[in-house]
Amino acid sequence: MQVIQQVAFIVCLAVAAFFISRRVRRIAGNIQLGRPLSRKDRPSERLKKMLLLAFGQQKMFDKPLIGLMHFIIYAGFLLINIEVLEIVIDGIFGTHRVFAPFLGSFYGVVIGFFEFLAIGVIITCVIFLIRRNVLKIERFHKPEMKGWPQMDGNLILTIEIVLMLAILTMNAADSLLQLRGTDHYAVVGAFTFSQYLMPLMAGLDTGALIGIERVGWWLHILGIMAFALYVTYSKHLHIFLAFPNAYFSNMEPFGKFENMSTVTREVKLAMGLMEDDGADEGEAKFGAKDVTDLTWKNLMDAYSCTECGRCTEQCPANITGKKLSPRKVMMDTRDRVEEVGNYLSQGKTLAEALEMGDALYSDRYISKEELMACNTCNACVEACPVSIDPLNIIVELRRHIAMEETGTPASWNNMFANIENNMAPWKFSPSDRFNWVEELNK
Ligand code: SF4
Ligand code: SF4
Repeated sequence: MQVIQQVAFIVCLAVAAFFISRRVRRIAGNIQLGRPLSRKDRPSERLKKMLLLAFGQQKMFDKPLIGLMHFIIYAGFLLINIEVLEIVIDGIFGTHRVFAPFLGSFYGVVIGFFEFLAIGVIITCVIFLIRRNVLKIERFHKPEMKGWPQMDGNLILTIEIVLMLAILTMNAADSLLQLRGTDHYAVVGAFTFSQYLMPLMAGLDTGALIGIERVGWWLHILGIMAFALYVTYSKHLHIFLAFPNAYFSNMEPFGKFENMSTVTREVKLAMGLMEDDGADEGEAKFGAKDVTDLTWKNLMDAYSCTECGRCTEQCPANITGKKLSPRKVMMDTRDRVEEVGNYLSQGKTLAEALEMGDALYSDRYISKEELMACNTCNACVEACPVSIDPLNIIVELRRHIAMEETGTPASWNNMFANIENNMAPWKFSPSDRFNWVEELNK
Protein backbone atom coordinates (compact mmCIF):
# COMPACT_ATOMS: atom_id res chain seq x y z
CA MET A 1 0.00 0.00 0.00
CA GLN A 2 2.81 2.38 0.97
CA VAL A 3 4.68 1.62 -2.27
CA ILE A 4 1.53 2.28 -4.33
CA GLN A 5 1.19 5.67 -2.65
CA GLN A 6 4.86 6.49 -3.35
CA VAL A 7 4.50 5.56 -7.04
CA ALA A 8 1.24 7.55 -7.31
CA PHE A 9 2.92 10.54 -5.68
CA ILE A 10 5.94 10.44 -8.00
CA VAL A 11 3.64 10.18 -11.04
CA CYS A 12 1.58 13.19 -9.83
CA LEU A 13 4.78 15.16 -9.20
CA ALA A 14 6.15 14.35 -12.68
CA VAL A 15 2.83 15.26 -14.39
CA ALA A 16 2.63 18.56 -12.48
CA ALA A 17 6.30 19.37 -13.26
CA PHE A 18 5.71 18.63 -16.96
CA PHE A 19 2.68 20.91 -17.31
CA ILE A 20 4.14 23.70 -15.17
CA SER A 21 7.45 23.75 -17.04
CA ARG A 22 5.60 23.73 -20.39
CA ARG A 23 3.51 26.70 -19.31
CA VAL A 24 6.53 28.58 -17.94
CA ARG A 25 8.32 28.10 -21.28
CA ARG A 26 5.25 29.43 -23.09
CA ILE A 27 5.12 32.56 -20.92
CA ALA A 28 8.87 33.17 -21.32
CA GLY A 29 8.48 32.78 -25.10
CA ASN A 30 5.56 35.21 -25.15
CA ILE A 31 7.52 37.82 -23.20
CA GLN A 32 10.39 37.43 -25.66
CA LEU A 33 8.04 38.44 -28.49
CA GLY A 34 8.63 42.01 -27.31
CA ARG A 35 11.27 44.34 -28.71
CA PRO A 36 14.72 44.34 -27.07
CA LEU A 37 15.36 46.77 -24.22
CA SER A 38 18.43 46.98 -22.03
CA ARG A 39 17.81 47.14 -18.30
CA LYS A 40 21.23 46.08 -17.07
CA ASP A 41 22.34 49.41 -15.62
CA ARG A 42 22.49 50.31 -11.89
CA PRO A 43 22.31 46.73 -10.57
CA SER A 44 22.61 47.67 -6.87
CA GLU A 45 19.79 50.24 -7.11
CA ARG A 46 17.69 47.68 -8.94
CA LEU A 47 18.35 45.06 -6.29
CA LYS A 48 17.34 47.49 -3.56
CA LYS A 49 14.14 48.36 -5.41
CA MET A 50 13.31 44.69 -5.85
CA LEU A 51 13.87 43.95 -2.17
CA LEU A 52 11.72 46.89 -1.10
CA LEU A 53 8.88 46.48 -3.58
CA ALA A 54 8.62 42.75 -4.16
CA PHE A 55 10.08 41.21 -1.02
CA GLY A 56 9.18 43.96 1.46
CA GLN A 57 5.86 44.81 -0.28
CA GLN A 58 6.61 48.51 0.37
CA LYS A 59 3.79 49.96 -1.72
CA MET A 60 1.19 47.62 -0.22
CA PHE A 61 1.70 49.41 3.10
CA ASP A 62 0.32 52.65 1.62
CA LYS A 63 -2.88 51.11 3.00
CA PRO A 64 -1.42 49.68 6.26
CA LEU A 65 -4.16 47.24 7.27
CA ILE A 66 -4.54 45.80 3.78
CA GLY A 67 -0.75 45.71 3.49
CA LEU A 68 -0.48 43.71 6.72
CA MET A 69 -3.14 41.23 5.63
CA HIS A 70 -1.54 40.81 2.22
CA PHE A 71 1.82 40.26 3.95
CA ILE A 72 0.31 37.48 6.11
CA ILE A 73 -0.90 35.63 3.00
CA TYR A 74 2.45 36.21 1.29
CA ALA A 75 4.53 35.09 4.30
CA GLY A 76 2.22 32.10 4.75
CA PHE A 77 2.70 31.15 1.12
CA LEU A 78 6.50 31.42 1.34
CA LEU A 79 7.09 29.79 4.71
CA ILE A 80 4.52 27.02 4.58
CA ASN A 81 6.31 25.84 1.46
CA ILE A 82 9.10 24.66 3.78
CA GLU A 83 6.60 22.15 5.11
CA VAL A 84 5.72 21.25 1.53
CA LEU A 85 9.36 20.28 1.03
CA GLU A 86 9.00 17.79 3.87
CA ILE A 87 5.75 16.49 2.38
CA VAL A 88 7.45 15.97 -0.98
CA ILE A 89 10.34 14.04 0.60
CA ASP A 90 7.89 11.95 2.65
CA GLY A 91 5.84 11.32 -0.50
CA ILE A 92 8.82 10.09 -2.52
CA PHE A 93 10.54 7.98 0.14
CA GLY A 94 7.52 6.87 2.16
CA THR A 95 8.88 8.45 5.36
CA HIS A 96 6.87 10.17 8.08
CA ARG A 97 7.79 13.75 8.97
CA VAL A 98 11.36 13.30 7.80
CA PHE A 99 12.60 16.61 9.31
CA ALA A 100 11.47 15.74 12.86
CA PRO A 101 14.51 13.66 13.93
CA PHE A 102 16.86 16.44 12.76
CA LEU A 103 15.03 19.27 14.49
CA GLY A 104 14.12 17.42 17.73
CA SER A 105 11.82 19.42 20.03
CA PHE A 106 12.23 22.47 17.75
CA TYR A 107 10.18 20.61 15.14
CA GLY A 108 6.98 21.18 17.13
CA VAL A 109 7.79 24.91 17.36
CA VAL A 110 8.30 25.15 13.59
CA ILE A 111 5.07 23.31 12.77
CA GLY A 112 3.26 25.42 15.41
CA PHE A 113 4.50 28.55 13.63
CA PHE A 114 3.29 27.19 10.28
CA GLU A 115 -0.11 26.48 11.84
CA PHE A 116 -0.18 30.06 13.18
CA LEU A 117 0.44 31.29 9.63
CA ALA A 118 -2.20 28.88 8.28
CA ILE A 119 -4.80 30.34 10.64
CA GLY A 120 -3.69 33.88 9.70
CA VAL A 121 -4.07 32.99 6.01
CA ILE A 122 -7.57 31.53 6.58
CA ILE A 123 -8.76 34.63 8.49
CA THR A 124 -7.23 37.01 5.93
CA CYS A 125 -8.68 35.11 2.96
CA VAL A 126 -12.14 35.21 4.55
CA ILE A 127 -11.81 38.99 5.08
CA PHE A 128 -10.64 39.45 1.47
CA LEU A 129 -13.61 37.40 0.21
CA ILE A 130 -15.96 39.61 2.25
CA ARG A 131 -14.32 42.78 0.87
CA ARG A 132 -14.70 41.54 -2.69
CA ASN A 133 -18.18 40.08 -2.51
CA VAL A 134 -20.07 41.68 0.38
CA LEU A 135 -18.54 45.12 0.86
CA LYS A 136 -18.24 45.50 -2.92
CA ILE A 137 -15.09 47.67 -2.90
CA GLU A 138 -15.49 49.72 -6.09
CA ARG A 139 -12.17 48.94 -7.73
CA PHE A 140 -13.01 45.20 -7.73
CA HIS A 141 -16.21 45.82 -9.65
CA LYS A 142 -15.11 47.92 -12.63
CA PRO A 143 -16.26 46.69 -16.08
CA GLU A 144 -12.96 44.92 -16.85
CA MET A 145 -13.38 42.78 -13.71
CA LYS A 146 -16.65 41.14 -14.79
CA GLY A 147 -16.62 37.37 -15.38
CA TRP A 148 -13.38 35.44 -15.22
CA PRO A 149 -11.19 38.06 -13.43
CA GLN A 150 -13.69 38.26 -10.58
CA MET A 151 -13.97 34.48 -10.37
CA ASP A 152 -10.18 34.11 -10.49
CA GLY A 153 -9.79 36.25 -7.36
CA ASN A 154 -12.49 34.35 -5.47
CA LEU A 155 -11.20 30.97 -6.60
CA ILE A 156 -7.66 31.56 -5.43
CA LEU A 157 -8.79 32.78 -2.00
CA THR A 158 -11.03 29.74 -1.63
CA ILE A 159 -8.25 27.35 -2.70
CA GLU A 160 -5.93 28.89 -0.10
CA ILE A 161 -8.53 28.37 2.64
CA VAL A 162 -9.01 24.72 1.62
CA LEU A 163 -5.23 24.12 1.54
CA MET A 164 -4.77 25.58 5.01
CA LEU A 165 -7.72 23.61 6.45
CA ALA A 166 -6.25 20.44 4.92
CA ILE A 167 -2.92 21.02 6.69
CA LEU A 168 -4.59 21.61 10.08
CA THR A 169 -6.83 18.54 9.68
CA MET A 170 -3.89 16.39 8.63
CA ASN A 171 -1.83 17.51 11.63
CA ALA A 172 -4.67 16.85 14.09
CA ALA A 173 -5.30 13.33 12.76
CA ASP A 174 -1.54 12.68 12.67
CA SER A 175 -1.16 13.68 16.33
CA LEU A 176 -3.95 11.29 17.37
CA LEU A 177 -2.35 8.44 15.40
CA GLN A 178 0.97 9.14 17.12
CA LEU A 179 -0.72 9.00 20.53
CA ARG A 180 -2.23 5.61 19.66
CA GLY A 181 1.21 4.27 18.68
CA THR A 182 0.07 3.52 15.11
CA ASP A 183 2.75 2.05 12.84
CA HIS A 184 4.51 4.60 10.59
CA TYR A 185 3.38 7.60 12.71
CA ALA A 186 6.52 8.29 14.76
CA VAL A 187 5.89 10.37 17.87
CA VAL A 188 6.68 14.06 17.38
CA GLY A 189 3.98 15.45 19.71
CA ALA A 190 0.77 17.43 19.25
CA PHE A 191 0.93 20.79 17.49
CA THR A 192 0.05 24.23 18.84
CA PHE A 193 -3.21 24.94 17.01
CA SER A 194 -4.35 21.68 15.37
CA GLN A 195 -4.51 20.06 18.84
CA TYR A 196 -7.82 21.87 19.30
CA LEU A 197 -9.27 19.84 16.40
CA MET A 198 -8.21 16.57 18.02
CA PRO A 199 -11.31 16.20 20.29
CA LEU A 200 -13.50 16.31 17.16
CA MET A 201 -11.79 13.14 15.87
CA ALA A 202 -10.96 11.39 19.15
CA GLY A 203 -13.97 9.03 18.89
CA LEU A 204 -12.99 7.70 15.45
CA ASP A 205 -11.28 4.33 15.02
CA THR A 206 -7.70 4.17 13.82
CA GLY A 207 -8.63 3.22 10.24
CA ALA A 208 -10.86 6.29 9.90
CA LEU A 209 -8.13 8.49 11.36
CA ILE A 210 -5.56 7.16 8.89
CA GLY A 211 -8.10 7.90 6.13
CA ILE A 212 -8.55 11.49 7.35
CA GLU A 213 -4.79 12.03 7.68
CA ARG A 214 -4.17 10.64 4.20
CA VAL A 215 -6.99 12.68 2.63
CA GLY A 216 -5.62 15.84 4.32
CA TRP A 217 -2.09 15.00 3.15
CA TRP A 218 -3.09 14.25 -0.46
CA LEU A 219 -5.52 17.17 -0.62
CA HIS A 220 -2.81 19.54 0.54
CA ILE A 221 -0.07 18.37 -1.78
CA LEU A 222 -2.29 17.80 -4.85
CA GLY A 223 -3.90 21.16 -4.13
CA ILE A 224 -0.47 22.80 -4.12
CA MET A 225 0.52 21.13 -7.40
CA ALA A 226 -2.77 22.22 -9.00
CA PHE A 227 -2.37 25.68 -7.48
CA ALA A 228 1.17 26.00 -8.88
CA LEU A 229 -0.13 25.19 -12.37
CA TYR A 230 -3.24 27.35 -12.02
CA VAL A 231 -1.15 30.35 -10.92
CA THR A 232 0.59 30.37 -14.30
CA TYR A 233 -2.78 31.03 -15.97
CA SER A 234 -3.92 33.55 -13.37
CA LYS A 235 -3.19 37.06 -12.14
CA HIS A 236 -1.42 35.33 -9.25
CA LEU A 237 1.59 34.89 -11.46
CA HIS A 238 2.70 38.11 -9.78
CA ILE A 239 3.77 35.97 -6.79
CA PHE A 240 6.83 35.06 -8.89
CA LEU A 241 7.04 37.78 -11.54
CA ALA A 242 6.88 40.69 -9.09
CA PHE A 243 10.58 40.07 -8.35
CA PRO A 244 12.06 40.33 -11.87
CA ASN A 245 9.47 42.95 -12.76
CA ALA A 246 10.58 45.22 -9.93
CA TYR A 247 14.27 44.56 -10.69
CA PHE A 248 13.94 45.49 -14.37
CA SER A 249 11.62 48.45 -13.80
CA ASN A 250 12.24 51.93 -15.14
CA MET A 251 14.82 53.75 -12.98
CA GLU A 252 14.38 57.11 -14.69
CA PRO A 253 12.16 59.87 -13.27
CA PHE A 254 8.47 59.18 -14.01
CA GLY A 255 7.95 62.17 -16.33
CA LYS A 256 10.89 61.36 -18.60
CA PHE A 257 9.85 60.18 -22.06
CA GLU A 258 12.12 58.21 -24.36
CA ASN A 259 12.85 59.81 -27.71
CA MET A 260 12.52 57.68 -30.80
CA SER A 261 16.00 57.15 -32.23
CA THR A 262 14.84 57.42 -35.89
CA VAL A 263 13.13 60.76 -35.22
CA THR A 264 16.05 62.09 -33.17
CA ARG A 265 18.38 61.25 -36.02
CA GLU A 266 16.17 62.96 -38.61
CA VAL A 267 15.88 66.10 -36.46
CA LYS A 268 19.62 66.25 -35.83
CA LEU A 269 20.34 65.83 -39.55
CA ALA A 270 17.83 68.56 -40.41
CA MET A 271 19.34 70.92 -37.85
CA GLY A 272 22.87 70.14 -38.96
CA LEU A 273 23.76 68.72 -35.58
CA MET A 274 25.21 65.54 -37.07
CA GLU A 275 26.72 64.33 -40.30
CA ASP A 276 24.75 61.83 -42.37
CA ASP A 277 26.77 58.67 -41.88
CA GLY A 278 24.50 56.80 -44.30
CA ALA A 279 23.50 54.35 -41.57
CA ASP A 280 20.44 52.34 -42.58
CA GLU A 281 17.85 52.53 -39.80
CA GLY A 282 15.68 49.97 -41.57
CA GLU A 283 11.97 50.48 -42.11
CA ALA A 284 11.00 53.12 -39.57
CA LYS A 285 8.02 52.16 -37.44
CA PHE A 286 6.60 54.70 -35.06
CA GLY A 287 4.95 53.62 -31.86
CA ALA A 288 3.15 50.32 -31.32
CA LYS A 289 0.09 48.79 -32.91
CA ASP A 290 0.42 45.29 -31.57
CA VAL A 291 2.23 43.45 -28.80
CA THR A 292 5.34 42.71 -30.85
CA ASP A 293 5.89 46.48 -31.20
CA LEU A 294 6.12 46.79 -27.41
CA THR A 295 9.23 45.90 -25.42
CA TRP A 296 9.70 42.64 -23.50
CA LYS A 297 9.36 44.68 -20.30
CA ASN A 298 5.90 45.91 -21.34
CA LEU A 299 4.91 42.27 -21.85
CA MET A 300 6.45 41.19 -18.54
CA ASP A 301 4.48 44.02 -16.91
CA ALA A 302 1.30 42.55 -18.38
CA TYR A 303 2.00 39.11 -16.93
CA SER A 304 2.92 40.65 -13.55
CA CYS A 305 -0.29 42.64 -13.11
CA THR A 306 -2.16 41.65 -9.95
CA GLU A 307 -5.39 43.23 -11.22
CA CYS A 308 -5.58 45.05 -7.88
CA GLY A 309 -6.97 48.18 -9.56
CA ARG A 310 -4.92 50.65 -7.51
CA CYS A 311 -3.88 52.30 -10.79
CA THR A 312 -7.46 52.65 -12.02
CA GLU A 313 -8.54 53.91 -8.61
CA GLN A 314 -6.05 56.79 -8.97
CA CYS A 315 -6.55 57.47 -12.68
CA PRO A 316 -8.17 60.92 -13.14
CA ALA A 317 -9.56 59.89 -16.52
CA ASN A 318 -11.30 56.88 -15.00
CA ILE A 319 -12.48 58.82 -11.94
CA THR A 320 -14.14 61.37 -14.21
CA GLY A 321 -16.07 58.66 -16.05
CA LYS A 322 -13.82 58.16 -19.11
CA LYS A 323 -13.49 54.68 -20.56
CA LEU A 324 -9.76 54.48 -19.84
CA SER A 325 -8.60 52.06 -17.13
CA PRO A 326 -4.84 51.44 -16.81
CA ARG A 327 -5.61 48.03 -15.29
CA LYS A 328 -7.57 47.12 -18.42
CA VAL A 329 -4.62 48.26 -20.56
CA MET A 330 -2.45 45.69 -18.76
CA MET A 331 -5.10 42.95 -18.89
CA ASP A 332 -5.69 43.52 -22.61
CA THR A 333 -1.95 43.44 -23.33
CA ARG A 334 -1.66 40.09 -21.53
CA ASP A 335 -4.74 38.68 -23.31
CA ARG A 336 -3.45 39.72 -26.72
CA VAL A 337 0.07 38.34 -26.21
CA GLU A 338 -1.50 35.09 -24.95
CA GLU A 339 -3.62 34.97 -28.10
CA VAL A 340 -0.59 35.47 -30.35
CA GLY A 341 1.35 32.87 -28.31
CA ASN A 342 -1.49 30.35 -28.76
CA TYR A 343 -1.43 30.78 -32.53
CA LEU A 344 2.34 30.32 -32.52
CA SER A 345 2.00 27.12 -30.50
CA GLN A 346 -0.38 25.84 -33.21
CA GLY A 347 2.47 26.14 -35.71
CA LYS A 348 1.59 29.50 -37.26
CA THR A 349 4.37 31.91 -38.21
CA LEU A 350 4.63 35.19 -36.30
CA ALA A 351 3.26 37.12 -39.29
CA GLU A 352 0.28 34.74 -39.53
CA ALA A 353 -0.30 34.85 -35.76
CA LEU A 354 -0.38 38.65 -35.79
CA GLU A 355 -2.82 38.66 -38.70
CA MET A 356 -5.21 36.39 -36.81
CA GLY A 357 -7.42 38.14 -34.30
CA ASP A 358 -7.39 41.88 -33.66
CA ALA A 359 -4.28 43.95 -32.91
CA LEU A 360 -3.75 45.35 -29.42
CA TYR A 361 -4.79 48.76 -30.73
CA SER A 362 -8.32 47.90 -31.82
CA ASP A 363 -11.86 48.17 -30.54
CA ARG A 364 -11.61 44.61 -29.24
CA TYR A 365 -8.66 45.41 -26.99
CA ILE A 366 -7.49 49.00 -26.40
CA SER A 367 -9.52 51.53 -28.35
CA LYS A 368 -8.66 55.01 -29.53
CA GLU A 369 -11.24 56.46 -27.13
CA GLU A 370 -9.38 54.92 -24.17
CA LEU A 371 -5.96 56.02 -25.39
CA MET A 372 -7.02 59.59 -26.05
CA ALA A 373 -8.43 59.92 -22.51
CA CYS A 374 -4.98 59.61 -20.88
CA ASN A 375 -3.41 62.84 -19.64
CA THR A 376 -0.02 61.17 -19.02
CA CYS A 377 -0.09 62.14 -15.33
CA ASN A 378 1.76 58.98 -14.17
CA ALA A 379 -0.64 58.46 -11.24
CA CYS A 380 -1.11 54.84 -12.33
CA VAL A 381 2.64 54.20 -12.40
CA GLU A 382 3.05 55.79 -8.97
CA ALA A 383 0.22 53.70 -7.49
CA CYS A 384 1.30 50.29 -8.79
CA PRO A 385 2.64 48.01 -6.02
CA VAL A 386 4.68 45.89 -8.45
CA SER A 387 6.21 48.68 -10.50
CA ILE A 388 4.17 48.32 -13.65
CA ASP A 389 4.11 51.13 -16.20
CA PRO A 390 0.75 51.21 -18.06
CA LEU A 391 1.55 54.71 -19.34
CA ASN A 392 4.47 53.45 -21.40
CA ILE A 393 2.12 51.18 -23.37
CA ILE A 394 -0.44 53.98 -23.75
CA VAL A 395 2.21 56.38 -25.07
CA GLU A 396 3.54 53.82 -27.57
CA LEU A 397 0.03 53.10 -28.88
CA ARG A 398 -0.67 56.82 -29.11
CA ARG A 399 2.56 57.36 -31.01
CA HIS A 400 1.24 54.90 -33.54
CA ILE A 401 -2.03 56.83 -33.81
CA ALA A 402 -0.24 60.17 -34.17
CA MET A 403 2.63 59.17 -36.44
CA GLU A 404 1.38 56.21 -38.48
CA GLU A 405 -2.31 57.10 -38.80
CA THR A 406 -2.26 60.87 -38.34
CA GLY A 407 -5.25 60.08 -36.20
CA THR A 408 -4.90 62.64 -33.43
CA PRO A 409 -7.60 65.33 -33.00
CA ALA A 410 -7.18 68.60 -34.93
CA SER A 411 -6.51 70.55 -31.72
CA TRP A 412 -3.58 68.24 -30.94
CA ASN A 413 -2.24 68.55 -34.49
CA ASN A 414 -2.21 72.35 -34.13
CA MET A 415 -0.26 71.97 -30.92
CA PHE A 416 2.23 69.56 -32.56
CA ALA A 417 2.73 72.02 -35.45
CA ASN A 418 3.27 74.88 -33.02
CA ILE A 419 5.85 72.93 -31.04
CA GLU A 420 7.63 72.00 -34.25
CA ASN A 421 7.63 75.54 -35.69
CA ASN A 422 7.49 77.80 -32.64
CA MET A 423 9.06 75.60 -29.95
CA ALA A 424 5.98 76.21 -27.81
CA PRO A 425 2.39 74.87 -27.93
CA TRP A 426 1.06 78.35 -28.76
CA LYS A 427 0.70 79.98 -32.11
CA PHE A 428 3.18 82.82 -31.93
CA SER A 429 6.71 83.27 -33.07
CA PRO A 430 9.54 82.44 -30.63
CA SER A 431 10.86 85.96 -31.23
CA ASP A 432 7.65 87.35 -29.67
CA ARG A 433 8.00 85.28 -26.52
CA PHE A 434 9.27 88.08 -24.33
CA ASN A 435 6.90 90.77 -25.61
CA TRP A 436 5.08 90.62 -22.29
CA VAL A 437 8.19 92.08 -20.58
CA GLU A 438 7.89 95.18 -22.73
CA GLU A 439 4.28 95.52 -21.61
CA LEU A 440 5.56 95.59 -18.02
CA ASN A 441 8.07 98.31 -18.83
CA LYS A 442 5.41 100.69 -20.22
S1 SF4 B 1 -1.14 58.37 -16.86
FE1 SF4 B 1 -3.06 58.11 -18.00
S2 SF4 B 1 -3.74 56.07 -17.45
FE2 SF4 B 1 -2.22 56.65 -15.94
S3 SF4 B 1 -3.39 57.56 -14.26
FE3 SF4 B 1 -2.78 59.25 -15.60
S4 SF4 B 1 -4.50 59.49 -17.01
FE4 SF4 B 1 -4.75 57.48 -16.05
S1 SF4 C 1 -1.04 47.78 -13.15
FE1 SF4 C 1 -0.34 47.66 -11.00
S2 SF4 C 1 -1.82 48.89 -9.86
FE2 SF4 C 1 -2.74 48.44 -11.84
S3 SF4 C 1 -3.97 46.62 -11.51
FE3 SF4 C 1 -1.97 45.93 -12.26
S4 SF4 C 1 -0.79 45.56 -10.40
FE4 SF4 C 1 -2.55 46.78 -9.77
